[in-house]
Amino acid sequence: MQLDPRTILLLMAFTAVPTALVLLAVSRFYAAQVRGVKHWTGANIALAIGLLLLGLSQTANDLPARVGGNTLLVLTAALYYLAIMRLLNEKPNARLAWTTVIVSGVIFAMLWATNGHYRLAVATLSVALILLTGLSAARLLLPVSGERRVSHRFTGLLFLLGCILMAVRLVHILFSAHPPGNLFASDFWHGMILGGTHITVMLMSLGFALMIVDQLASELNRLATLDALTGIGNRRVFYTRAEAELARCRRKNTPLSLLMIDLDRFKAINDALGHAAGDETLRRFASLVGPHLREYDFFARLGGEEFVVLLPDATEDFALAIAERLRELTMAEHLPSPGFPVPTTASIGVAQLHPDDTSIDPLLQRADQALYAAKHGGRNRVVAASWLVESAPAPDLTEHDAVPPGLTLQARTE
Ligand code: GH3
Ligand code: MG
Ligand code: MG
Repeated sequence: MQLDPRTILLLMAFTAVPTALVLLAVSRFYAAQVRGVKHWTGANIALAIGLLLLGLSQTANDLPARVGGNTLLVLTAALYYLAIMRLLNEKPNARLAWTTVIVSGVIFAMLWATNGHYRLAVATLSVALILLTGLSAARLLLPVSGERRVSHRFTGLLFLLGCILMAVRLVHILFSAHPPGNLFASDFWHGMILGGTHITVMLMSLGFALMIVDQLASELNRLATLDALTGIGNRRVFYTRAEAELARCRRKNTPLSLLMIDLDRFKAINDALGHAAGDETLRRFASLVGPHLREYDFFARLGGEEFVVLLPDATEDFALAIAERLRELTMAEHLPSPGFPVPTTASIGVAQLHPDDTSIDPLLQRADQALYAAKHGGRNRVVAASWLVESAPAPDLTEHDAVPPGLTLQARTE
């Protein structure tokens, strides 16, 4: 079986065009979320034109094919590399990429002007392509911090395969006993290598599309789980996380505690300085708390000026100490600004998981009752749920009495 190089080149050119158009459409819809799509589209256009120039040339020795076509193939590999780095939000080695394109273009032009040997042109093209596809493969396959995604590995392996095919072509052209004399020479291995390259390049675009899907999915996931104002966890992800932690603590028989935090007299900030200042205060409070938590604690905004901290493996006493530290920090910060007459402080309710709690709700409820008691005890204070004891409902208690109806705040006994 002999594969015809010209047919393969033209097939490759024609498949690059629809891929470029599909990616162009994607880039118009998702330009804000995913970067690099325009570079990938540009790469496929360069590939299509380069292959058309090569495939339609009558011999492999005319100027557009030898200089333009080959340079465009190197440009394709450079743009693939830049597209990948942009998609991953990383700084590419752009100077190396563009230098490779320019230097190989100059070498192709010199070889054409001096009627240089076909083998030298193939060697130049192969080395340039190996360098650029190797850079892409290395970035996608070699371990760097962060998650390893299947789409990255898939695309990385295709780039590695492309690299290997180019290396095999180089070795074949340089060292075989009867190397093909020009691009269209009928040669079994040459045809097989070009055929393999065609399939690899087609699959590379599929790999890039999968990387885009991954990127969009993780962006959606980020938006769905983070609080848009403060960047910490939102209510939804808090419940998911809390139930998972509850199950884990049950399994391991370890304690689990929770802080329910409400900023005091927050409305005064909005009223005096406006909603934007209130927003800024919420952001500052969130960034104040984060650094004082352990790596596996979970901090979320339940809504408004109400926050929650989940403390795995923490007893109520441990949680109380953390709550007290957060209360002091907030007071010291004098939010929203040093001169503000009624700075906001934090009231915090603390509760620990009971052995008979079957879900996170009773724990939240107890922390909420403790918070309620902290508010009505005067604000800027920490109250533990265990300090509240069940009592007979007091007939005259109103919503603004010291503790929730049915509960009494007791002096803490060690
Ligand atoms: P307390 O000490 O009793 O907690 O008083 P407070 O003023 O903090 O509580 P209240 O519930 O009376 O008011 C909360 C205010 O928080 C009212 C609301 O406008 C404001 N708020 C809720 N969400 C946001 C937000 O996202 N941004 C801003 N700037 N304000 C918010
Ligand atoms: Mg409040
Ligand atoms: Mg509130």
